[in-house]
Amino acid sequence: MSRVVSVEEDYGKPLSPERLDEMVQRVGGWALLNGVQKKITATEFPERLEPMPFTLFPSILPGDVLRKTRGLQTAFQTVIYKVANDHEFMKKCLKGLLNVDDFTKQLWTIYETVRGEGITQEISLVLTRNDFMMEYRNDNDVTQDCKQVEFNTFASGAGGVISSMTDVHRYSLTLEDIPFNSEQLPDNHPTAGLADGMVKAWRLYKNKKSVILYIVGIPEPNTPDQRWLERDIFQIDRSVKVIYRTFPQLIRQMTLGENKELLVDGMEVAVVYYRYGYSPKHYPTEAEFKLRLDIERSRAIKCPTVAFHLAGCKKIQQVLAEPGVLEKFIKGADVINDLRSTFVGLYKLDTVDSDEIISQALQMPEKYVLKPQREGGGNNLFGTELKEYLEKIKDSPERSSWILMDRIRAARHRNRLVRVGLGPECRDVVSEIGIFGVHISTSTTELENFECGYLLRTKPEIANEGGLFSGHSCLDSPFLV
Ligand code: ADP
Ligand code: MG
Repeated sequence: MSRVVSVEEDYGKPLSPERLDEMVQRVGGWALLNGVQKKITATEFPERLEPMPFTLFPSILPGDVLRKTRGLQTAFQTVIYKVANDHEFMKKCLKGLLNVDDFTKQLWTIYETVRGEGITQEISLVLTRNDFMMEYRNDNDVTQDCKQVEFNTFASGAGGVISSMTDVHRYSLTLEDIPFNSEQLPDNHPTAGLADGMVKAWRLYKNKKSVILYIVGIPEPNTPDQRWLERDIFQIDRSVKVIYRTFPQLIRQMTLGENKELLVDGMEVAVVYYRYGYSPKHYPTEAEFKLRLDIERSRAIKCPTVAFHLAGCKKIQQVLAEPGVLEKFIKGADVINDLRSTFVGLYKLDTVDSDEIISQALQMPEKYVLKPQREGGGNNLFGTELKEYLEKIKDSPERSSWILMDRIRAARHRNRLVRVGLGPECRDVVSEIGIFGVHISTSTTELENFECGYLLRTKPEIANEGGLFSGHSCLDSPFLV
């Protein structure tokens, strides 16, 4: 079995219980001071904040893994862009879902309606996060390879709160006299790039009085993460105003102007940034779907359009992994090989030829993950739950709304997790890296395509899911070796 590595145990000295208490206090205070925060009250005022869950020390990560994942971002973005603009392909991938997955069907209807009416806004903005886990190449190996978990095109969060984790870990290492240099713990500031993308989109709209609309949750614990992005927009161009609204507020306040301008309280919106709206729960009535349709048909630049939202479906990810499909969307044998090298087995459940994979998954459920077309964490099934559910749906048409994926055996290492409900003892953990990117396009041209930093998050090895905002995993930074 591969060697388990930890910055504290390999480079530092074991912490005594008293020292650990002190470190948790001081590093937690530093995290709060540096904006690694989430809100713990439903109301805006008085606002109460606490640190996001974090690791006490950075986690060891091979430098080539980070380089490879970052290096693939623009190619992945090009592929998703091409998919989002390929009506026939999207239809072929998703049509089997539409009768069994009501939410996907609603999104598809919005997509088709606006397509039928004619597009009023040529420009699309998407802020992406491409998530990977690291796997050892084989049992005796020390080299790691990155495997894609999923590509997020909607509400890709945590770029803000991760932006000062490097400083937090520089502080914890310094407190413990663990030496490091800037190549081992490089700067990482995703919101600078994400904000740059937003301002570029805002400028393309060409109305200096227009605003950027953030659509946020009710309640919204992640205001600090969103404010980071607003802060970086403010740093770039103070004339760009950001407004925050919830779906219920927009249902009351939003109208479309004569030329389909999106108006909120008399302000014209240049860019709509969704941090909400990815779950069926966010659409309790028809009014929310009507709102989504009106936003989609407006002249505002959507981040993302419903086409990009749909292109981020797990079903699309599964089809992209089929032989010969990537080749339709991107040229160059090397880049195609590199992209494909990050894929694990992905399996459709929608036709007769999936009976074999179903019976394999029923026999060895621990080797797979069962995924619906959902976002936001907590929707996937693992182990016994996977087996029970698959047993239930295996003869029903509902099975085509799920995919199976090989379970990634993430490389284990050690760190201390500081989060509610879990002691900060040094434990076996696994990490996930998400690469942020910006893409601005029209249906025929890619106007901007760049990568802008990363999110590292770490969870106990025994945990299945690793949602950050759901409190399951901890913000981390890579200590590169
Ligand atoms: P969501 O869209 O809900 O975030 P993801 O596909 O990102 O769904 O999965 C949620 C979490 O489940 C991931 O962050 C990861 O921790 C875990 N996970 C997902 N797919 C796999 C996999 N193939 N192998 C191991 N863990 C996985
Ligand atoms: Mg995810």
